[in-house]
Amino acid sequence: DLRRITRALLSVSDKTGLVELAKALAALGVELVSTGGTRKALAEAGLAVRDIADVTGFPEMMDGRLKTLHPKVHGGLLAIRENPEHEAAMLAHDIPQIDLLVVNLYPFEATLAKGAPFETCVENIDIGGPAMIRAAAKNHDDVAVLVEPADYDGFLAELSANSGAATLATRRRLAQKAYARTAAYDAAISNWLAGALGEATPPWRAIGGHLSEPMRYGENPHQSAGFYLTGEKRFGVATARQAQGKQLSYNNINDTDAAYELVAEFDPARTAAVAIIKHSNPCGVAEGASLAEAYRKALRCDSVSAFGGIVALNRKLDAEAAREIVKIFTEVIIAPEADEEAVSIIAAKKNLRLLLAGGLPDPRAAGLGFRSVAGGFLAQSRDNSVVDDLTLSVVTKRAPTEKELADLKFAFRVAKHVKSNAIVYARDLATVGVGAGQMSRVDSSRTAAFKAEEAAREAGVRESFAVGSVVASDAFFPFPDGLLAAASAGATAVIQPGGSVNDKDVIAAADEAGLAMVLTGVRHFRH
Ligand code: 5GP
Repeated sequence: DLRRITRALLSVSDKTGLVELAKALAALGVELVSTGGTRKALAEAGLAVRDIADVTGFPEMMDGRLKTLHPKVHGGLLAIRENPEHEAAMLAHDIPQIDLLVVNLYPFEATLAKGAPFETCVENIDIGGPAMIRAAAKNHDDVAVLVEPADYDGFLAELSANSGAATLATRRRLAQKAYARTAAYDAAISNWLAGALGEATPPWRAIGGHLSEPMRYGENPHQSAGFYLTGEKRFGVATARQAQGKQLSYNNINDTDAAYELVAEFDPARTAAVAIIKHSNPCGVAEGASLAEAYRKALRCDSVSAFGGIVALNRKLDAEAAREIVKIFTEVIIAPEADEEAVSIIAAKKNLRLLLAGGLPDPRAAGLGFRSVAGGFLAQSRDNSVVDDLTLSVVTKRAPTEKELADLKFAFRVAKHVKSNAIVYARDLATVGVGAGQMSRVDSSRTAAFKAEEAAREAGVRESFAVGSVVASDAFFPFPDGLLAAASAGATAVIQPGGSVNDKDVIAAADEAGLAMVLTGVRHFRH
């Protein structure tokens, strides 16, 4: 799959690294062909270079709008080697074979960024460059294409290692980059024109999604919205089959995603698990011997908030669990699949949406997350850290008991999916109090403790559910106060990332309160 480079066409606006590249190519015996400005730069460096006008028999014209748009150029890029018909056409029309294309485009984005006038931006829309890039990339079976100076050195290293030839793997990788470049280039032009027409640029255009379904409205009725799919193969709300119920709203989709990502943290081979979500935060999560048991335990955490919630299950929905879930009003159920009896039980609730995702997402999988900010958007890799993979270090005099440790891991798994500041109390592999989204960690601790008291009251139990629980914090305790709030609520063990300058004080406070504490070294902020 090696292709020797015998002729290269170079046509670059950004001349960075050009002369070095051309010299190295010439030393390998590669014939150089170039457009006006590029040719001039190479000739000045003392290199022998053929003018593209010699090849086409046409001069550059119309302010450079026409330089390389010619069958003699595109034929040389597109012809399939060892195809008799293509070979005959090249021979008949005197088309020179081009094995390497080096192009970078008119600097449209940079021109725009400088605030240039409209006409100048238009003139900086490259036509021949993208055409050649796309042709060479299509024919990457035979042709290599470089669209960025940063790739020159690596490419040259490969040529010298293979006596002047490039591998198919490299040609394909370069083709992929080439199409990414032309796509981004055209997106920039289109976004600019949209702006000139007074339209806002949808951020997802840059992300590259396609509209799956327009929505009646967004997070609020005065906002418009759409559901865009990226084509990424990950089980979840985007790939699920809706077995029944009304159309999903923007908030439904957002919350269902949060619910399913959370419940996917629980390996279905190990345990049944259920998560109930409201406004993208869990109001109850539990493991159980069955889905029905897990659901009852999850519901007990905050049965008031669970009303109108989203229920996510990590195993095939069965009839027993379905019967429990339909007892209260629920917006959406999502599960990998459902058995027939469960489906018929859900069918009695006409509006209840049932989503069958076909599988669970892998919590360890890579992926991207986006969020908009004024004038742009942020992208980051998915938080795919899983507590089972971490080295937990015990920092207190007392080590957690086996039961505490199981609850600690459970609580930390959940805390990852709670908006910061996140404090999660858990007991017997179920949440008993969740403190979410407070601006101070102490307030989140207090909220979670209060929720645990409320849950006990609801259940007709005198003692707070927090008594005998463990507590997880998504980030370190900056001071002992948040930890002490948890201890006074009745928690006996703590899991948190650690790493505060005050860790020593926090550990001392834990020791004094008789708490067992483990550090994870990993933080789970979620905003
Ligand atoms: P040079 O500096 O060599 O004169 O021009 C290099 C630039 O011209 C490159 O950015 C290349 O993408 C662009 N280019 C090459 N062929 C054509 C063409 O036929 N039309 C247009 N508009 N640009 C071209």
